[in-house]
Amino acid sequence: MAPEETEEGNGPKRALVVAAHPDDADFGAAGTAYLWSRQGWEFYYLVCTDGSKGSDDDSISKQQLIEMRRQEQRDAATVLGVREVLFLDHVDGELTPNRALLGDIVRVIREVRPQAVFTHDPETVIVNDVFVNHSDHRTTGLAAIDAVYPAARDRLNFPEQIAQGLTTHKVSQIYIWGSPQANFEVDISEVIDKKIEALLAHKSQFEADFVTGLLERWRSPEGRYVESYRRVLMGF
Ligand SMILES: [Zn+2]
Repeated sequence: MAPEETEEGNGPKRALVVAAHPDDADFGAAGTAYLWSRQGWEFYYLVCTDGSKGSDDDSISKQQLIEMRRQEQRDAATVLGVREVLFLDHVDGELTPNRALLGDIVRVIREVRPQAVFTHDPETVIVNDVFVNHSDHRTTGLAAIDAVYPAARDRLNFPEQIAQGLTTHKVSQIYIWGSPQANFEVDISEVIDKKIEALLAHKSQFEADFVTGLLERWRSPEGRYVESYRRVLMGF
């Protein structure tokens, strides 16, 4: 399905993918990022944590892991045509829904000025009775949504940013992956290889077998691949 037209004239359409860890944006939206970028959208990734807990390998230091995962996320973004990856560097596993995180995301929204924000589902704690939705994922989703409304929109929220020259911004669409209330699908069948290539860029996280196993899990009975979202068209 084609992305919606927005009311912001003929300039480039921008999307900001707000993710907790390096690799989450690719799980959630890599196919969409690649497809829509080909249609003229500009995609930006924002990674909220430093990824510093994502390894059992005690031969690498925390700082090495942080650097490695940053580079992996940049490599994945390059595969997809994502313009830039931004990092907030909050500590992995310790994200809390506080004013600092909210302000950080608001600042990026006011700088990037996206029409669409993609993020995690903040509402689900238990997924299909077999997974726990990581607390960093829930926190990121909640902060991203709160940043869209009302914080980025209103000049009296984080007025120091306005004083520094940023202006308020209205995001018109939110796309939430991992939601049991999905209402919007992007068919990524023709670009599933790009999503896999992006995931494989996260070498510290996955073996090739793991990612190819996902193909089995994600394939629909008709042989299609989709990225599903709960889409919110902001009425303000
Ligand atoms: Zn994650």
